[in-house]
Formats: sequence, C-alpha cells, structure tokens
Amino acid sequence: MSRIMIDCPEAGGPVYTHLNFEAFDWEAIPVGEREIECPRCGRMHVWRRADAWLDEDGGRG
Ligand SMILES: [Zn+2]
Repeated sequence: MSRIMIDCPEAGGPVYTHLNFEAFDWEAIPVGEREIECPRCGRMHVWRRADAWLDEDGGRG
C-alpha cells in the first residue's frame, strides 16, 4: 500500500491524507475534492487528485 500525500501550500512539505491505496486502485477511484486539516499549518486544505502523490512503501510484501 502507498500513502496518499499532498504538499502543504502554506508551510510546504508532505502531508499524509490518511488515505492508503495501491497505485492501480488509486488511479481507478473517483477522488473529487477532499478536505484535510493540515498537521503542518493547522489550516483546512482542499485537494484533488492532481495535488496528490503516492508515498510508496518501498515495495516490501
Ligand atoms: Zn498546511
């Protein structure tokens, strides 16, 4: 599984969205707009698939 990440637009750096998907599942699901309370800057961010990237787990298993 990979963690779905975004970059904080305020503070920069990766933010974990609390979503986990295999890459091929991630490509298939509808994402729409999602909100996350950002642990880096404390604000709410709205993000879409285009903002997200997968943090691969290194391929174990
Ligand atoms: Zn933020």
